[in-house]
Amino acid sequence: MKFIRQVNAVVPIIFNDFPKSIRWMLGAITAAVTGYFIFLILSGAPFKIKMDQLFELLLVMTALLITGFLVGTFRAINQLKTRGTTAKSDMTAAENKIDVNKKILPYSKIELGNYESETIAVGILADILLEESIKPGTELFLNRVDAGEPYCPKCKNPMESWNAGAKAGFVQIGYKCINCRTKHGRNRDELIKDISGEIRRNYDNYWNRYVHQINRITNGRPGDYIVR
Ligand SMILES: [Zn+2]
Repeated sequence: MKFIRQVNAVVPIIFNDFPKSIRWMLGAITAAVTGYFIFLILSGAPFKIKMDQLFELLLVMTALLITGFLVGTFRAINQLKTRGTTAKSDMTAAENKIDVNKKILPYSKIELGNYESETIAVGILADILLEESIKPGTELFLNRVDAGEPYCPKCKNPMESWNAGAKAGFVQIGYKCINCRTKHGRNRDELIKDISGEIRRNYDNYWNRYVHQINRITNGRPGDYIVR
């Protein structure tokens, strides 16, 4: 049944793309033959047509139908191809239009302050989401939280990754200051967990900072910008 439905959908498209000359010829032959039979019936004249003449006529009509069908299929496929290309270029144009009208933010994360302890200091970052109009739930917001580059709270030097030895596969176990040897025994994932805990405890405060920062960098019009 599905096949029949497909054929039903395709045949009219192909017939639409039959060359006009072939449609005219088919129409003319059908009209002539029908007219001749009607004339014979109405006038009561004897049938004079021979079987092989009728056969030749059928042969010509079949040839015309096959030619029309082939040309129609070819044209229909070409049209579908062209339509696909047009749709694609329309989409590219739409994308370009958005780029022209909107300003681009040069960064995708925003800093919400510092996370600081005795042994580490690091910027608290959050992914920018410009389409946001209401305050998201805490956990949803925490998915966007990230940490900047850690630095030493004592001497302000950048901290380096502190890794386990070869036996432990060099996994990161924390951060260390190569200047004053301050060590922080929490790796990057744990550091982000600690930051998340801090935000969870003071979510209202961090959310207000986030909104304030977004308004500051977009002059209060986040809708005019897109994130790079
Ligand atoms: Zn240090």
